Amino acid sequence: MPQRTCVGCREVAGREALLRLVRGADGGVRPDPAARQPGRGAWVHPRATCIELAAKRGGLQRAFRGALQVTPAALCADLRAALAEEIVETSRRWERAGRAPGPLGRRLAALRSAEAELGTGSAKS
Ligand SMILES: [Zn+2]
Repeated sequence: MPQRTCVGCREVAGREALLRLVRGADGGVRPDPAARQPGRGAWVHPRATCIELAAKRGGLQRAFRGALQVTPAALCADLRAALAEEIVETSRRWERAGRAPGPLGRRLAALRSAEAELGTGSAKS
């Protein structure tokens, strides 16, 4: 299992515990919950506290080599929206697979817990 470092708290964790962020063409930061986007990525725990730390301590700026165009609160909201979409998409695929236990079920559980964690705490802009 590949290990990644959270750009917020600097803890090392498996990639299923972290969310991938990528830099958009507009210089903004985009969530990439399925980790499919090409280009430089950064990994962060799906927690408001880690996202705040990443913005405050410069972890995101270092990962993307430049100034950030996004506030932690806006990034949290983007991440929540991206997770919600990914949850809908994954549960559709899981239903089609007959709710079989396996990677899709585990992925869905991980996404749901990420969404729940992101919903706690408050990121200030
Ligand atoms: Zn973290």
